Amino acid sequence: MQHDVELLKSKIPLLDYLKRHNWSGCRVGSRHEFVGRCPLHEETQASFYVNAQKNLFYCHGCGRGGDLLRFVQLSLRLNFRDSVAHLKRELHPALFTEGCVLVQAASFYHSQLDRHEEARAYLRKRGVRDEDLISRLLIGYAPGGSLRGYLTEVGSTVDFLAHLGLVDGRGRDSFYRLIVVPCLDSNGNVANLYGRSIDGLPAHRFLPRAKGGLFAWDRVCDSNRIILVEGLFDLMVLWQAGFTHTTCGYGIHLTAAQFAQLCDRSDREVFIVFDSDGNGAGQRAAMHLAHRLRSGGLRAHVVTLPDGHDPNSYFVAGATAADFQACLDQGCRL
Ligand SMILES: [Zn+2]
Repeated sequence: MQHDVELLKSKIPLLDYLKRHNWSGCRVGSRHEFVGRCPLHEETQASFYVNAQKNLFYCHGCGRGGDLLRFVQLSLRLNFRDSVAHLKRELHPALFTEGCVLVQAASFYHSQLDRHEEARAYLRKRGVRDEDLISRLLIGYAPGGSLRGYLTEVGSTVDFLAHLGLVDGRGRDSFYRLIVVPCLDSNGNVANLYGRSIDGLPAHRFLPRAKGGLFAWDRVCDSNRIILVEGLFDLMVLWQAGFTHTTCGYGIHLTAAQFAQLCDRSDREVFIVFDSDGNGAGQRAAMHLAHRLRSGGLRAHVVTLPDGHDPNSYFVAGATAADFQACLDQGCRL
């Protein structure tokens, strides 16, 4: 923290900070001394002195003085820690946009993966083993109770984290014991975070914001053959097996924007591989979607996996890429 403070004070001269916040002063005495009205108390005569070389201020009216940190604490009524965070935001405003904070959160969760064996065990159970894939998709783990501390340390406010849904109304981490995968939009940006519980309910969580269309559309949209699955764990085992032209719509009902993405080229062929769940909802949705895609001029196939499997459980049960390809070929013939 002390290192941060010295760095901030060297990067943000006190006089620059004051001028940026509408303080005006006249040069007096030495080249480095300025005087103006005090921003910390009401006054009609100028008694607030700034020494630009020493980066210090002193007010003869209210008797207060100190460095940049002290000024921020007094003027904004912040404690030391929040003042440091405030100055970090002043220095790098672009780092505190919604998109950047989501990336910081995703990177933090990714860094936690190897520290928690229960997360690694869950990924193994779901057939996700490829370290390259885990890195490329920035798959991570939210142990709970540590994200807020990390992000406020690097400069975010709790209010902003609550606005994003990363912390709840009580200021606690929202994601707890969840595998976390960033939802990538069509520009490769993190639009949302998907959380999958390793042991509790609810099983699935997102932040309260848009998901950014089909997953990682920019990485698959050049293909004229697309595999569409329900969830990210289906997608992961398929990418791992070489089917990298797979995307997912986070469920069986596509949004209008996701549907439009699938239809953005007329020579596209779509293989829909939804879960064969007991009540048949997945298969009905797949048939309906295939019909709509065909009406839009595309070729579309509903693929059924053996024994009621979904893509994830199929690979976990030992299926190979060749087995899955055979199912795709079978779907074409139906
Ligand atoms: Zn004063």
